[in-house]
Amino acid sequence: MPIATVDPATGETIETFEPLPSDQVRQRLATAGAAHERYRTTGFAERARLLNRAADLLEQDTADIARTMTTEMGKPVKAARAEAAKCVKAMRWYAERAEGLLADEHPDAADVEDSGASRAVVRYRPLGVVLAVMPWNFPLWQVIRFAAPALMAGNVALLKHASNVPRTALYLQDLFARAGYPDGCFQTLLIGSDAVEDVLRDRRVAAATLTGSEPAGRSVASTAGDEIKKTVLELGGSDPYLVLASADVERAAATAVTARVQNNGQSCIAAKRFLVHTDVYDAFRDRFVAGMRELTVGDPMDEDTDVGPLSTEQGRADLEELVEDALGRGATALCGGTRPKEQERGWFYAPTVLADITPQMRIHREEAFGPVATLYRVADLDEALEIANDTPFGLSSNVWTRDEAEMTRCVRDLQAGGVFFNGMTASHPGLPFGGVKRSGYGRELSGHGIREFCNATTVWYGAGG
Ligand code: NAP
Repeated sequence: MPIATVDPATGETIETFEPLPSDQVRQRLATAGAAHERYRTTGFAERARLLNRAADLLEQDTADIARTMTTEMGKPVKAARAEAAKCVKAMRWYAERAEGLLADEHPDAADVEDSGASRAVVRYRPLGVVLAVMPWNFPLWQVIRFAAPALMAGNVALLKHASNVPRTALYLQDLFARAGYPDGCFQTLLIGSDAVEDVLRDRRVAAATLTGSEPAGRSVASTAGDEIKKTVLELGGSDPYLVLASADVERAAATAVTARVQNNGQSCIAAKRFLVHTDVYDAFRDRFVAGMRELTVGDPMDEDTDVGPLSTEQGRADLEELVEDALGRGATALCGGTRPKEQERGWFYAPTVLADITPQMRIHREEAFGPVATLYRVADLDEALEIANDTPFGLSSNVWTRDEAEMTRCVRDLQAGGVFFNGMTASHPGLPFGGVKRSGYGRELSGHGIREFCNATTVWYGAGG
């Protein structure tokens, strides 16, 4: 994939970039290694000062960087501004909390004595240079939610961003430099995915995090496994959205629209499969379909747009294939199911609801990365759970119910990294984020996220120590 800014609303190529030559990649690796040797000895106060400064700068830059993101990947510009604001919040959150989250842990006195120590502590030390392979769908947020905790823990970062968001990738490097981070603490490598393996195998790289598709995750995890390097993987999702008999159907339907089409439908934690109890199915379906029909599809720079184009031409072709496969096998399009007629240029797709889904359809098990919902009528919670779990993915899940017993059952039985009741899945700095099954492993955000790239060091003092 060429490294280029191509406007998905028009298909126009705005700027192309040459990949960084391998000698310059090696140079950046050396710079990163040297930077870590110095940066790892800094204290939390200094790291917090730098991160807060970066947050202030990002806050000032919001309008500009939001337009850059919209130009590169098509998200509505108001959503792009909200993404920048979310990043600022997470940076400040980690600047304030990291020291507490990584404070020394003191094992139980009885266990310390049992180990023969006079005292013992667990200290969280940084791992070193961490390679971040990131996707285009939240081009700022995906990077910041890794970088803020990683930098506060004393690691340094190398970013290999998706090839269609090079300007955002370069902005991030510039942001950290302007904030005063020492040279090499955060570097962007404009490289293709074929150059990732060599970087990951470099002895100066200690670990990697990847957010993206399953093939990309498998490739990076295989190399890292071969090198015995730590990885965190945040991969795809096909989150279920259960609407049970006691649900507030009106709120459930209104939230369902946002949950499905946020970020033009290209969010890993978007609700994608809607499993609705037969008692409330008709009421939910009518409201949900009406809400999807009312969305404004169009120019993502327009403040009134709800749904912009898909980010790449290939992404739209993949989505069209999934829909056509389902329609060909008997699914019904309650709305959408085609490209919108109004947009002649760009990679738009109409908000779509498909009913009459069967397990033979690809969309039953594959991720629909665009504004396409699948709707299922279920007889009871047992059937809802069975369909919800009948997927290779396990990122998050959403359940609408007022019944405590159903909530308990869902927490016990849903195969997912999150269960959100009476609302939609979203990421928050203070709550862990991540999945199970083919959605990946490890966690981002909260204390769990910051400890992923730490060496939990056992410090043991013998008698007299
Ligand atoms: P992708 O193709 O996997 O790209 C993601 C990143 O991985 C890009 O930087 C890409 O570089 C790189 N990459 C691709 N193949 C690679 C390989 N073989 N080795 C090393 N790096 C490789 O993902 P996408 O299709 O753009 O993004 C959508 C997917 O990401 C969806 O499945 C979505 O659910 C998932 N996602 C997950 C989360 C989460 O938190 N779980 C969040 C957002 C998105 P190039 O651009 O140069 O190819």
